[in-house]
Amino acid sequence: MMTPDGLAVAHLTRRFGKLTAVDDLSFRAARGSILGLLGPNGAGKTTTLLCLAGLLRPDAGVLALDGQPLGADRGRVISLIPETPEVYGMLTVWEHLVFVAKSCKLEAGWAERGRELLERLDLYERRDTIGEALSKGMRQKTLIAATALAGAPVLLLDEPMIGLDPKGQRELRAILSDLRDAGCAIILSTHLLESAEAICDRVLVLNFGHAVISAPMAELRFGEFGRSLEDLFLEATR
Ligand code: ATP
Repeated sequence: MMTPDGLAVAHLTRRFGKLTAVDDLSFRAARGSILGLLGPNGAGKTTTLLCLAGLLRPDAGVLALDGQPLGADRGRVISLIPETPEVYGMLTVWEHLVFVAKSCKLEAGWAERGRELLERLDLYERRDTIGEALSKGMRQKTLIAATALAGAPVLLLDEPMIGLDPKGQRELRAILSDLRDAGCAIILSTHLLESAEAICDRVLVLNFGHAVISAPMAELRFGEFGRSLEDLFLEATR
C-alpha cells in the first residue's frame, strides 16, 4: 500500500461558545502542491490555519503528516505566516535568519540562500534594520524569508499577498513554487481569486466552517461549462 503523502486533516472542529467556526472539516494537502483555502469573511479560514499550526486548540480533529500522527510537537514540521506579521522587535532582518539557521540547525550554505531570498524580496539592503523599525510589508517579507529558509515540510500562509507590493507578490509566488517543487505541502488562505488561480493546484472553499468546494484547480478552470472561479465561488457560498 502507498503511504498517504502530505498533511491529512480529519474531523477538525473548533467552537467559540455557540458558534461552530470549523465544523467537522476533513481534507488533505499533498506534498509538492499548493492548496488554496478560500471562503467569505468569517468562513473559518484563519481558525483552521491556527488549529493546524497548534496555536488554537481544536475541540476535535486529528492531523497526520505522511501517514504519521502529529501531536503537540508539530511546530517542528508546520510553519505558519500569520495574517499580522510579527517579528522580534530588537532583532535585525538578518538576525531573524541567523535565529532560524541556529534553531533549525541548518547546514552550511544557509547564509547564501538567506541572502538570495532577501535579495529576491528587496530586503537585502535593509538586513541590518531591527524588527520594530520595519514596515508591515517588510515584516512580512522577513517572515517569508525566514520561513522559506527553515524549509518545514508544511507551510501555512494566512492572506500572504495582502500588504506586499506587486514585485513582492510576484516573488512570493515564485518562492512558493520553488518550495512546492522541493516537496513542501503549502496551504494559503486568500480572497484574491485571480492570485489563487495563478498559483494553487487545488482549492478548498469554506462556508460556515464547512467545505463547499474541494477540487483541483484545473477542473474549476476548465470544467463546469467554462464558468469562472469567481462564479463558482459566489454560487457555492451564497
Ligand atoms: P476573514 O476572511 O474575515 O479573515 P475567516 O474565514 O478567516 O474570515 P475566522 O477568523 O476563522 O474566519 O472566523 C470564523 C468564525 O469564528 C467567525 O464567525 C468569527 O467571528 C469567529 N471567531 C474567530 N475567532 C474568534 C474568537 N477568538 N472568539 C469568538 N469568535 C471567533
